[in-house]
Amino acid sequence: MLEGIREFARALKASRYAVALTGAGASTESGLPDFRSKTGLWKGIDPVSLISMSALRQRPVEFYQFYRMRFSHLWGAQPNPVHKVLAALQREGLLKRLITQNVDGLHQAAGSPDVIELHGSLRECACLSCGRTFPSQLIDVPVETAEDIPRCPECGGILKPGVVLFEEALPPDAIEEAFDAAMKADLFLVVGSSLEVGPANQLPAVAVQQGGDLAIFNLTPTFLDSRARWIFREKAGQALTALAEELGISV
Ligand SMILES: [Zn+2]
Repeated sequence: MLEGIREFARALKASRYAVALTGAGASTESGLPDFRSKTGLWKGIDPVSLISMSALRQRPVEFYQFYRMRFSHLWGAQPNPVHKVLAALQREGLLKRLITQNVDGLHQAAGSPDVIELHGSLRECACLSCGRTFPSQLIDVPVETAEDIPRCPECGGILKPGVVLFEEALPPDAIEEAFDAAMKADLFLVVGSSLEVGPANQLPAVAVQQGGDLAIFNLTPTFLDSRARWIFREKAGQALTALAEELGISV
């Protein structure tokens, strides 16, 4: 039995408006590389120089090659226990809002409805000229020269992955919804996020300021650990599986 999980399960059942925020750690158990760890995606790459609007316009070949590598990880990835337990908690009405920093769509693949995607989605792409969106398969093509760069089938404009790039604003609707949820939360779960990236890392802080209780499921410390009522240092999938068992919920 995981220490503290019984008490947390009781608090979750008693909560009025529980909200969860997930980060890269929620998807590492699906085999998707973490962005910031030493073995993560950005090892050896300066992200600011490549994963940005200016790189898309000035170095599109490298840009698309990088995203093709990301797609190669994405298509085979399956939801893991983190995604499945959170979807089950939503089904049971125990989790009212789910916010993610991830762009892999694995929460939806696990059956989660209404996911607030703060950083967009890698499963879509959008035309910079006409704004139409398409499935990302359209931009998962070999790009060797500037001629190979995928174009909008409607207007010929440049296609961009549906994720938020550097030099781009976060989607305002998602930000507003996320902060609205954090304001209402009487219980806030941080799952697989080391809370290093803003403004997402302000969401649990807002919840705590409003009097909400904080539970952190993360392998490494975060800047809000001292404000958390529960900290589970296990792999998030293990801790959430223990939670589901304690609640008697089948996943
Ligand atoms: Zn277009």
